[in-house]
Amino acid sequence: MHTRIITIDGPAGAGKTTVSKLLSQKLGCIYVDTGALYRGVAFEILQQKINWEDDHVLEEFLKTLDLNFIMEASGLVLMSSGRDISDYIRTPEISMLASSSSAKPQVRSALFEIQRNIARTKDAVFEGRDMGTVVFPDATHKFFLYADLAIRAKRRCDEMPEETKDLFRVQKDMETRDNNDSKRKSAPLKPAEDAVEIDSTFLTIEEVVEKMLGYIEKAGQASQSC
Ligand code: C5P
Repeated sequence: MHTRIITIDGPAGAGKTTVSKLLSQKLGCIYVDTGALYRGVAFEILQQKINWEDDHVLEEFLKTLDLNFIMEASGLVLMSSGRDISDYIRTPEISMLASSSSAKPQVRSALFEIQRNIARTKDAVFEGRDMGTVVFPDATHKFFLYADLAIRAKRRCDEMPEETKDLFRVQKDMETRDNNDSKRKSAPLKPAEDAVEIDSTFLTIEEVVEKMLGYIEKAGQASQSC
């Protein structure tokens, strides 16, 4: 890969998307929220009432899957068979289904090429669960961003409209997803051996991004001095 790829992995609600957006702006490249792809799969499974636990049915369904991103100034737009589905993929139901269906190796390999293809021609910050370990083991810089569960749940709740805020449920769902994601056999959530780990529990988004830029700059100086 000749492009500059930065990976940010970590559990739900650690601030990966916001950090990726800001970091990509500072570096003048694009960012890719790979969780949106897994949410897109879950969305189509629900829409088409796919019995995804049946491997044969799942494989036939994945052959028809047509997901891609359009990069707009306002952010990423997720398209499924030519339709913008970005506004429909953030529900708790889709979060849980994305978490369980993403454990299927067939789902992961269907999305692998989409992610690698984006990286072929564009410098990018990729955020997800297995960016540094599986999809981009050759990334230029790797980060693993985490924070205490209670803080992550509170931050997620703060972004929600008043009428849907439910801290207990958000925290419970996050814990379940973290467990699913880290215990699955296929591409489990874990830091890459060469990832820089950052605990964002007591840091603002800006402080996290500053830290990352510091590491990137230092690594750049080290490689120039060799
Ligand atoms: O990042 P986000 O919370 O939107 O991801 C939704 C779900 O998609 C995660 O809980 C995880 O199960 C799955 N996912 C994944 N690998 C990625 C990104 C997301 O398995 N690279």
